[in-house]
Amino acid sequence: MDIAANVAAVRVQIADACGRVGRDPAEVRLLPVSKTMSPELIRQAYAVGCRRFGESRAQEAILKAEQLSDLDDLSWAMIGHLQTNKAALVARFAGEFQALDSLRLAAELDRRLQAVDRQLDVLVEVNTSGDASKFGVPVDGAPKLVAGLQAFDALRVRGLMTIASRSSDPKRVGDCFQKLAQLRRELRDDDTLTGDFGELSMGMSSDFGLAIEHGATVVRIGRGIFGAR
Ligand SMILES: *Cc1c(COP(=O)(O)O)cnc(C)c1O
Repeated sequence: MDIAANVAAVRVQIADACGRVGRDPAEVRLLPVSKTMSPELIRQAYAVGCRRFGESRAQEAILKAEQLSDLDDLSWAMIGHLQTNKAALVARFAGEFQALDSLRLAAELDRRLQAVDRQLDVLVEVNTSGDASKFGVPVDGAPKLVAGLQAFDALRVRGLMTIASRSSDPKRVGDCFQKLAQLRRELRDDDTLTGDFGELSMGMSSDFGLAIEHGATVVRIGRGIFGAR
């Protein structure tokens, strides 16, 4: 697996997608997703400039953080569903949490963050596909959740995240991205909410070009960089 070549190829594809819709590639952050991958592979991505990595499971991420503690500026984005009993782990070490989908979890994270005197950037995960097997708050429940989050001082709400439908039909996948972008517009227009909700984390190895065309500011790429899991 040539990680350096894969990262370079993904960067070209990001620039191409931006070019198609007149966006600046600097607006799109590449988040390499290293779940199940060894610390050695993460080192190779670090060597070509990657500094923050996406992980799904808190225990796995903490172990890797310890194994890679010699690397400067390395940080972790937790992108998977989190059970409240793991909130303390995430509060302790994560740089960002992208899968916030309930007030109960928000309250627990906030409490654990206060205890260690930290704040955390969070994205609200939205279920835009309507797929019952996916996590995330339903689209029409998102404004209420975001409003409730304003009470938690340790959580900095930065935007929204979604996993699109697995469909091979680009129209269905694009609909998911469009819904997330529309929801962000609604949140920004809501005067009762403070915050800028700038981040749209959407797009994975199979669909990130389309996501960028719909306004993604973060793309989460696992297989496209590290190969099959
Ligand atoms: C695993 C994962 C990814 C990366 O998926 P790939 O298809 O490997 O690019 C992105 N987002 C989330 C939430 C994931 O769990």
